[in-house]
Amino acid sequence: MADTQHMDEAAEEERMMLDAIEKWLEQKVKPVAMQLEHDDEYPTDLVEDMKELGLFGALIDPEYGGLGLSASTYARIVTRIAEEWMSLTGIFNSHLMMAQIVQRFGTDKQKEHWLPKFATGEIRGGLALTEPNAGTDLQALTTKATLQGDKYIVEGAKTWISNAIEGSCVALLVKTDPSAEPRYKGMSILITQTKDSDGKDLPGVKNGNKLEKLGYKGIDSGELIYDGYECDAELCLVGGEEGKGFFMATGGLEIGRINIAARSVGIARRALRESVAYSQTRHTMGKPICEHQAIQLKLGEMGAKTRAAELLVEDAARAYDTGQRIDMEAGMAKYFASETAVEVATEAMRIHGGYGYSKEYPIERLYRDAPLMCIGEGTNEMQRIIIAKQLVKRNPV
Ligand SMILES: Cc1cc2nc3c(=O)[nH]c(=O)nc-3n(C[C@H](O)[C@H](O)[C@H](O)COP(=O)(O)OP(=O)(O)OC[C@H]3O[C@@H](n4cnc5c(N)ncnc54)[C@H](O)[C@@H]3O)c2cc1C
Repeated sequence: MADTQHMDEAAEEERMMLDAIEKWLEQKVKPVAMQLEHDDEYPTDLVEDMKELGLFGALIDPEYGGLGLSASTYARIVTRIAEEWMSLTGIFNSHLMMAQIVQRFGTDKQKEHWLPKFATGEIRGGLALTEPNAGTDLQALTTKATLQGDKYIVEGAKTWISNAIEGSCVALLVKTDPSAEPRYKGMSILITQTKDSDGKDLPGVKNGNKLEKLGYKGIDSGELIYDGYECDAELCLVGGEEGKGFFMATGGLEIGRINIAARSVGIARRALRESVAYSQTRHTMGKPICEHQAIQLKLGEMGAKTRAAELLVEDAARAYDTGQRIDMEAGMAKYFASETAVEVATEAMRIHGGYGYSKEYPIERLYRDAPLMCIGEGTNEMQRIIIAKQLVKRNPV
């Protein structure tokens, strides 16, 4: 009985949140998304709305001021926002990956210090793993943190970091013991604040270039350069113990992968919706193109794959909510949904003919945004390897 009541309350909360998001998308996002995208402009006003909606605290426990949403509800929200403008989802997801690392692995003192400010969006940021010479092979990274007294001194550079310029804090994967073997045993995560409350660089850290991209416009992807940066060890070394960073980072990526999969579903759904509508209004040879079998074959495949991707995301999010490691479920959802997004966006472009290539329609944006889903939070090559390893591990003979 108590369980049923809890489920009813959760369903009601989810409905209210989705209604609020729906209104915001309709009233605030739709009118400006196309322009901001083509101007590659950071959506400052929308970020303020996102703070009010609680999105920066979506997965943070209510005890620290967050909404404490389940991964399932979160994934639905991400999909819906990505249908309108995928870039927005990166602004809060990268931030929430940083927050999840503190929430899952931080000390009580670290949670109390960081999470309330993360939940309101007063401090926003992301996850800084990648370096110029270390992407997939994260253990090759060279950014180094050395303990001196009660402080860490950080030296090194990160690249491709979402929110590196507009945000002011990152969960930074570093080597605390560069000579450790195996290499992952020498890795730790530090929460490093990079800017003060006025947005000025803190001593010892600065942004390098803002990186120009094919898609994912509006959100900043940048470099971070650490040169003698100092931070308080007790507040910054997540969990208070060196050598655990690699597992924290890969654990943090699970929710990131569910998010990427949910975004991919958003891209695919929008491309499908636009195609179903367009194919009924565009006529050739005396009939709407949706009556040509060549177009029907495309729509049928797009519809089936988009629905399958949705179901894989739901499955992975439900598994995440049980608190288990879910590399395989998140990997399957991320791999399949992102490949589906690329396929469905490409087919949508073909269905739209020349108009698919026009900047006046959303199709070219979906087409540019989809491939990133195959790269971010672990490439799809790696996802298939992770899935295979898990299949063998879970089914020994
Ligand atoms: C827009 C954008 C935003 C990003 N945001 C962030 C961010 O916020 N934080 C962050 O830390 N990083 C971020 N990244 C970086 C991203 O995570 C990396 O680009 C990605 O992990 C791949 O690393 P790489 O580019 O170094 O490619 P590489 O690792 O050099 O890989 C190149 C190719 O080789 C394949 N490959 C590599 N190793 C293997 C292997 N063992 N077996 C089979 N195939 C292999 C890869 O799959 C890929 O096809 C972002 C990237 C982009 C483009």
